[in-house]
Amino acid sequence: MPLPPDLHVHTEWSWDAARGSMEKSCARALEIGLPAIAFTEHADWALVHEGQHPVDLPAYFDAIERCRAAYPSLRILTGVELGEPHWFPQETAAALASGPLDIVLGSIHSIHWDGDVLDASQFRGRPGIDFPGAVREYFAELLLMVESGQPFETLAHIDYPKRYWPQGAAPYREKDYEEQIRAVLAAAVRTGRVLEVNTTRGDFLCPDMTVVRWWREVGGQAVQYGSDAHQPDKVAEGFLIATQMVEAAGFKPARDPVSLWRR
Ligand SMILES: [Zn+2]
Ligand SMILES: [Zn+2]
Repeated sequence: MPLPPDLHVHTEWSWDAARGSMEKSCARALEIGLPAIAFTEHADWALVHEGQHPVDLPAYFDAIERCRAAYPSLRILTGVELGEPHWFPQETAAALASGPLDIVLGSIHSIHWDGDVLDASQFRGRPGIDFPGAVREYFAELLLMVESGQPFETLAHIDYPKRYWPQGAAPYREKDYEEQIRAVLAAAVRTGRVLEVNTTRGDFLCPDMTVVRWWREVGGQAVQYGSDAHQPDKVAEGFLIATQMVEAAGFKPARDPVSLWRR
């Protein structure tokens, strides 16, 4: 069975992808037989990291055209990963109006915490933080984003904080946040969203089986895959295990390899 498209890839057009390359990611996609790839660069306006800035979309679209000319046998999709779009409705609208975007991911990376804006990668570095409380705030913010009416199609890396779980803490268990996660999934069903299974460049399934099963239970219709690669050799990393997991959770491969997997 061919691998599904990788619909969440970052390149040099994302602020945090110093080793990114759109051209080399295209070459890699062809090498491993991907039917399509989407370049979903960061459109972040909550600036919490050194050097963080949103994608320069006009320049990005030029790069897409150069890659389409250079790799005519690969289907190259445009995209964007919106960070906290409900905090930035004007910036989001302007980004989406700047050109045709095939894949629009909605992501929460940051929460309001103690008078600051904190990315989940910063939770564990915060002395004395109530870590489970911050994770609950993350899922609460995710629900607000899904219910906000912001125009994104796909709910990206639903349990992002688990990538940055503190050593020595009790391990992440979906069950501990089940009520909140199910509320997010139900809101995503109501609003016609697609659930992304993000493989974290081959390191973590975000989400894992438990949540994909809940997605099916609450009526979720479709799943898509993203590696969240920030460098070419990570494109589609972890997709074999991810597709097996999604199939076991009750979703079927698309007949058209470019389409989403459905129940
Ligand atoms: Zn993200
Ligand atoms: Zn990403």
